[in-house]
Amino acid sequence: MIDAKSRGVKETAIPLEQVVYSLYQSQDKIYPRSVSGIFNNWRWAMVWLTQLFFYGVPWLEWGQRQAMLFDIEAKRFYIFGLVFNPQDLIYLTFLLILSALALFLFTAVAGRLWCGYTCPQTVYTEIFLWIEAKIEGDRAARMRLDQSGANVKKVSRKFFKHVVWIVFSLWTGFTFVGYFTPIRELSAHLMQWSMGPWEMFWVGFYGFATYGNAGFMREQVCKYMCPYARFQSAMFDDDTLIVTYDEARGEPRGGRNKKSVEANAKLGSCIDCSLCVQVCPTGIDIREGLQYECIGCGACADVCDTVMDKMGFARGLIKYSTQNAMQQHWSRHQILQRVLRPRVLIYSAILGLLTLGLAISLYVKPSFRVDVLRDRTVISRISQDNKLENVYRIKIMNNAEVTQQYEVHVLADAAFEAEFSEMKSLPIDRARYVMDIKPGQERSLVMELKVADGVLNRGSHPIAFQVKSLGTQETTVEKSVFIITQ
Ligand code: SF4
Ligand code: SF4
Repeated sequence: MIDAKSRGVKETAIPLEQVVYSLYQSQDKIYPRSVSGIFNNWRWAMVWLTQLFFYGVPWLEWGQRQAMLFDIEAKRFYIFGLVFNPQDLIYLTFLLILSALALFLFTAVAGRLWCGYTCPQTVYTEIFLWIEAKIEGDRAARMRLDQSGANVKKVSRKFFKHVVWIVFSLWTGFTFVGYFTPIRELSAHLMQWSMGPWEMFWVGFYGFATYGNAGFMREQVCKYMCPYARFQSAMFDDDTLIVTYDEARGEPRGGRNKKSVEANAKLGSCIDCSLCVQVCPTGIDIREGLQYECIGCGACADVCDTVMDKMGFARGLIKYSTQNAMQQHWSRHQILQRVLRPRVLIYSAILGLLTLGLAISLYVKPSFRVDVLRDRTVISRISQDNKLENVYRIKIMNNAEVTQQYEVHVLADAAFEAEFSEMKSLPIDRARYVMDIKPGQERSLVMELKVADGVLNRGSHPIAFQVKSLGTQETTVEKSVFIITQ
């Protein structure tokens, strides 16, 4: 039985089965007020840093190519000096695991600083809000403009704002596509109005996503679409840094009465000016405690500090702190001491080890890749010259950026003979095959390995293929087996 009262529904004469619950809650538009202060400076520093990286990196060159390019058509990814093929998926997996661990560690220590300072949604919303404030004015002016009827001033300002937003969004979309198609070629195509349909689609798609998310959806993305906000509480503990309101100091809140010293003496430090709510990009009141909508941006702390300065009160009524620190009145030094707690140390150790492992494996990553496939359809057969024979296909992939020459030979019992593709059969100590492979290309080679009947017993005999790059002198050994069934 559903208890309508417990769901906040007033009891009426309407039968319960006819009560309609709405899954959509309409919300007032949020007009965040501009703010200045130390956390705002940090936020803008991160906006500059992330955007300089995003817009700048595709224009960097590395040798004869773009430094960072994810060439999906050629199935090759370039990150400065590193070249990745689809076979290198393991590195991507590694990177994703590292990112997840870094997020766990970062969240356990510093809460939602990622959301407040570096998340693309926050960064683009900040940029779009800045454009909006420059064209339409700050919070009060924007509210007045929206409430006014259609007039030339309103239409022209809105039109101009949307033009700037759209141009910025398309530039963002263009840069994004420039990570997948060489950006200099893309620019030339753009100048000549000759961009391909897919390129146009993705520029438009990414541009539209930026325009929609940063211009209109804004805090809705954080509140309803981002999964991180939902599971972050599992990573928080009482020593995690969060934006907090010092209730003990702030309450009872209230406006000051200039004439009554006695009335003021009964009040806490909060003058109930509501500026902390006005600057909040997600429209919440931090004085109501920790809420999942809080992205930890620190705007409320900045504005409250300016209020405290004006009132002549100590700063920090709203500040970054931890639940333990608030309850036990810890100093900054005591908060810092709790950073190195077991959970953080374990995350850090795992993260450090994995990062080291990834760095070493990238450093020793060979410039070519070898795969050996035994012909499984014919396990063992009799060759034309009456010997026992197994067939192998050796695939070599050149991951280097220049043509390379490779030498292949077999490491096995001296009784074996090898016959590479069109070459004649030779004892394995003399059987060598040399071939050139162009950058990013793969070549296959068929090899028949033979041994005279009766020399070896029935069963599986270990062998190996050694492939050597004659240019770099790198060597790779791939193990396999020679099987005798007769
Ligand atoms: S900005 Fe500070 S003083 Fe003003 S309402 Fe918020 S907490 Fe109170
Ligand atoms: S409550 Fe404060 S820190 Fe949290 S989102 Fe709002 S302004 Fe940012």
